[in-house]
Order: sequence, then structure tokens, then C-alpha cells
Amino acid sequence: MEYTPKRFHCPACGFEPAENVPEREYAHCPRCLTAIHEADSEGYECGGKLQPVSIWVKPDDSWEILGRCSLCGEIASTHVSDEDDPVLLLSIAGRPLSMPPFPLEKIEELTRMMGGAGDKGGYGREP
Ligand SMILES: [Zn+2]
Ligand SMILES: [Zn+2]
Repeated sequence: MEYTPKRFHCPACGFEPAENVPEREYAHCPRCLTAIHEADSEGYECGGKLQPVSIWVKPDDSWEILGRCSLCGEIASTHVSDEDDPVLLLSIAGRPLSMPPFPLEKIEELTRMMGGAGDKGGYGREP
């Protein structure tokens, strides 16, 4: 039987590392940031897809991707790698800010409370 090394294959977008790239450990897919939930916190095998839902900035300023398992619903984190799509990382990090769970007008109110220029007039107003 032919020996085939275990290559990373993304279950979400189908990403596979190019043939000429040396094999390496992928914590998650560098293209869509989906990871595989190998085992849940109890140690049981899961195999679900960890869909990236948010970014966790750790105390040392490094980033972890928080993924929610499509099968068991657990949230697990994987370390950001320098191969990850930076645009996608930023869009995940910024998603809650672009879709707040309350009307946008509330943000103006909040920024005013925090002493900022939150109204739609912007920064170029008369003093
Ligand atoms: Zn992928
Ligand atoms: Zn799971």
C-alpha cells in the first residue's frame, strides 16, 4: 500500500497546501480560518468544524481565533499564524462593531457619554 502523509485539508473551503510547500502543522485553515474540533473539553472525539466567530487578544497581545464547533457547540481557540488571511482576521475582529445588537444611534449616545465626537457631524465641526 502506498504511504500517503496526512495533509491538511480544510473541510469548509477545501484548502490544501501546495504540493511544493513543506508539510507543517495547521491549527486551522489559513484561507477561511476554520479549524477541526478534534476532541471536546471532556476528551471525546468530535470532528466538527470550528467556525471562526471572534478574536481573543491575550494579555501578551497575541491573537487567538475563537471557533465555535458546528457539531457540539463548544468554543475552542487556535493561535493565529503568519499565514492567516489578514483581511479575514480583521473582518472577524470587527464584525461585532459593524453589527451591534442595538440601533446605531445608541453608539452616538455612548460615544457622547465617553466624551468623544460620536455624532454624524464628524470631527470638522465649529468649536
Ligand atoms: Zn478553509
Ligand atoms: Zn465539537
